Amino acid sequence: MHCYRRSRSERIGFLAATQLPRIRTSKFIFAVATVGMAVAGTLVSPICEAGQDAAQRIVLKGGSIYDGTGGKPYVGDVLLEDGRIAAIGTADKPLANPNADRTIDCTGLIVAPGFIDLHNHSDTPIVQKETRDGRNYLTQGCTTIVTGNCGGGQVDIGKYFGELDENGIGVNVVHLVPAGAVRNRVMGAVNRPPSAEELQRMQKLVEDGMQGGAYGMSTGLIYVPGAYADTDEIVSLAEIVGKHGGIYASHIRGEGKTLLDAVAEAIEIGRRANLPVHVSHFKASGKAYWGGVRPASQLIEKARAAGQTVTADQYPYTASSTSLAAMVLSSEAREGSNADLAKRLKDETKLPELREQIAKNIIDRVRIQIASYGPKPQWSGKAIADIAEAEGREPVDVVVEILQNGGCAAVSFTMNEEDVRFVMQLPWVATASDGAVKVANNSKPHPRSYGTFTRKLGRYSIQEGVLPLEQAIRSCSGLPADILSLSDRGYLKTGQAADVVVLDPKTLMDKATYEEPFEHSDGVRYVLVNGRIAIDDGKSTGALAGKPLRKK
Ligand SMILES: [Zn+2]
Repeated sequence: MHCYRRSRSERIGFLAATQLPRIRTSKFIFAVATVGMAVAGTLVSPICEAGQDAAQRIVLKGGSIYDGTGGKPYVGDVLLEDGRIAAIGTADKPLANPNADRTIDCTGLIVAPGFIDLHNHSDTPIVQKETRDGRNYLTQGCTTIVTGNCGGGQVDIGKYFGELDENGIGVNVVHLVPAGAVRNRVMGAVNRPPSAEELQRMQKLVEDGMQGGAYGMSTGLIYVPGAYADTDEIVSLAEIVGKHGGIYASHIRGEGKTLLDAVAEAIEIGRRANLPVHVSHFKASGKAYWGGVRPASQLIEKARAAGQTVTADQYPYTASSTSLAAMVLSSEAREGSNADLAKRLKDETKLPELREQIAKNIIDRVRIQIASYGPKPQWSGKAIADIAEAEGREPVDVVVEILQNGGCAAVSFTMNEEDVRFVMQLPWVATASDGAVKVANNSKPHPRSYGTFTRKLGRYSIQEGVLPLEQAIRSCSGLPADILSLSDRGYLKTGQAADVVVLDPKTLMDKATYEEPFEHSDGVRYVLVNGRIAIDDGKSTGALAGKPLRKK
């Protein structure tokens, strides 16, 4: 039984939206909860009610079953019971007992495994009340997200997963030990090698994370302080991860000029530390380096042919998003905190060199757009070049001003459409968002947090035929499960956890854009998480049916 707290409004929303049987039980719980609230004087009461829905028998009837293997679809019925896929019936071999508490007609619809987002940055918002339901992922068909990416996020997995258990979550969460955050905790944001004692302390944190149920470790080798770790240091941590059967996922050291060296380093780390390697958000960044994904993919394929496990993921957009500072300054120039950087940019003796570096780096990027910037909210969604022109300034001076005030997040158009299409067809590339759970506000973040999966399937596969739908669905389900060695999710087969999506191929499409990044997708009709309905006929139920997934 999965116990958690749920607020009154969430419970009401859930009951109203699902209209499932067992209403009597729910009403009883609601009455108890109301008393609890009166006594405690709070809107939140301990409730333990997840099990009741999970016990439901649900039949998804007559849909086209894409099972996550990449094989051709077939028409059949999927029976879900006790949070598991209990049986799959076909015309030749119908369900033995098709009676159910609820039967959902899936004629003309796609039935697929719930999507697994290998690359997610929800470490902070997934524990927050307004975003923990993961709605912007459920509405893309995503039932599991992987946090701790790019070397950043929660170091103490026990505390983190404890909070998720306690408060409830709308999607399942897998975690990676974030090596950058580990380094920061032990050494701070300094650019030097660790002492023997410091390395030991980092190894201990990685060991604790793996024992706590992490599925691997991530690095972010352009970020502070992850960038200051050399190959040997990473190998000495990755060896521990490998002993626990985990993976090494990396935002590699370079995605433009040094892409090939960076891929080679990731492969070397996997070989020396004896563990699977995963290249996060695989791309060639910067006009001068477009096309670089081809030789980089050959390097990966060579390693795969030699028996190494090497994979990658991708978000299907030509823009990336990260901090403005990371886009325009080297990791050496960014040592320390944002405040330290701001101070250096205000120092007349240091500014000219930094300014020159920024000016050089913004040339490679087609357009840099501000996601959100506290001091001047009116700049959100605007391009640096446009702001500069309107104010009669040089773009580099606008960037310097922003960084002098603590920096901002930005969206940058650095990729080439042809490269994006090439990468998504590779059979070892999974779909992943690089986004986070969020709700609408005044900022203009990258639309990938709302549209990655529906864009890949609806736009690139169904509408444009860039890759077969069965392969596109596999890249969102079976493949990421295989990459993580997540043994009971990612496929539609008997015994797997009941994470299932039902999609309408006629309307499936992303709606979020760079101008309107908070638009939910179309065409995701039903989403079940651990056997409970999270999206019911296109509407969110508010169910917090997810759970942290601990590697055993
Ligand atoms: Zn990254």
